[in-house]
Amino acid sequence: MRQHQRRPSGTSPYWPTGTQIMWREGSGPLGTGDPVVDISLPHFAQPVTVVQDDASGLVAWLPTGTPVLRAARADGLGKRDDPSTLFTAPLVSERGVHALYDQLRIAPTGRPWSVWVMFADGAFAGWYVNLERPHVRDEGTVYTSDHVLDLVIDPDRTVTLKDEDELVLAVEQGVFGQAEVLAFEAYARSVVALVADWGSPFCDGWEHFRPGPDWPIPAFGG
Ligand code: MG
Repeated sequence: MRQHQRRPSGTSPYWPTGTQIMWREGSGPLGTGDPVVDISLPHFAQPVTVVQDDASGLVAWLPTGTPVLRAARADGLGKRDDPSTLFTAPLVSERGVHALYDQLRIAPTGRPWSVWVMFADGAFAGWYVNLERPHVRDEGTVYTSDHVLDLVIDPDRTVTLKDEDELVLAVEQGVFGQAEVLAFEAYARSVVALVADWGSPFCDGWEHFRPGPDWPIPAFGG
């Protein structure tokens, strides 16, 4: 699939509820880098089920137990075991199983982040805001790229910035320049302001979401 065949999310045709699509991150370490072109190269990918897809954005469901693809270190170390080579270690493809919370992922159209509503055994556990490139898509996949910096928003609306130390390493190891860091920090401040105003998608009631009782765990789509 060539990149020029991709289009920004938020325009028709939209995916019907219940469609299984792939959510792919960048082709670099920790999901950074250009949106993946050759899916045989190491990257992070998750099959997700579409809950809602329209001009306002994409909402998709990623339950624990879903088979996923990860970019793992070729030297066998865990991805955070050696900070000095966090963003430079050679990578290999690794199959895995999504284990960290059932997630309802909300990607508002054109925004440089998505909001992941976290559930543990059906109980709402808070929000995670993943700073990332605005999505583009083709027939069956959304493509983004991770910006390392994240925000955790507790059920009581307390906001915590996450992985600032890894963003410093990303600059030192050549993944991002200072101008990009300034942009990411501005995006983070815009999320803090959005939470303070309790704007969409936080005010939209997604913490009450439950999947359809007959929704299967997706198979890995390739
Ligand atoms: Mg992230």
